Amino acid sequence: MDNTSDIYKTTQLPDLIGHVSMQEAVGLLTEQFPGQVTFSTSFSMEDQVITHAILSAGLAVSVFTLDTGRLFAETYSVWSATNEKYGARIKAYYPDRSLLEVYLDQKGPNAFYESVANLKACCHIRKVEPLKRALEGQAVWITGLRAEHSPDRQDHQVVEWDDNNKIIKYNPLLHWKTAAVREYVDSHEVPYNPLHDKGFVSIGCAPCTRAIRAGEDFRAGRWWWEDNSKKECGLHVS
Ligand code: SF4
Repeated sequence: MDNTSDIYKTTQLPDLIGHVSMQEAVGLLTEQFPGQVTFSTSFSMEDQVITHAILSAGLAVSVFTLDTGRLFAETYSVWSATNEKYGARIKAYYPDRSLLEVYLDQKGPNAFYESVANLKACCHIRKVEPLKRALEGQAVWITGLRAEHSPDRQDHQVVEWDDNNKIIKYNPLLHWKTAAVREYVDSHEVPYNPLHDKGFVSIGCAPCTRAIRAGEDFRAGRWWWEDNSKKECGLHVS
């Protein structure tokens, strides 16, 4: 959307947002773009921080998730607990049925272990295409991206223009450390995924996520059979 791009590129808004608290920033964004600010959650601990900030303050932000169909049972439990705690109904976007049926028919259910091309295709169908639909008509996408999670994520900015999705992206927790996330969740009694207590750092689809061992890189828990250069699913292109 051209107007959004113009506002991002020609006004002081991005700079201002980068220097105020998360709630103030969201307030400024919803004022500038009423009804066009959205937050994507995977129910990870960092996403739960943002969910709490939005839903407990009644901020005018829509909250959605991408249900890939391959999530952990624990993820559905924390989703349900979150709806219950905040009286919310977090909207889910699902993979396009016809795309998924063709892919599964041709490749089988676990083809992502066989090649990078299959992995990318699965992520495209289960995540990237539904995300495009979720972001349609929106001006601002809030995410729980944290730089600590991978070298690629260190290239992101707290406020940035996402040319791929033609949207302003706001990553309020980009520079938060794990201890700060944990402290926030504990002190605000925010529901969180119990897999985090079992060594899972970043929690995605069950067949592609594992716990990490002491001393391992955070990204070791995702797509561990591939090398590090292939460990992004296409949602966050910096
Ligand atoms: S993370 Fe794994 S199961 Fe999930 S969409 Fe990507 S390849 Fe498919």
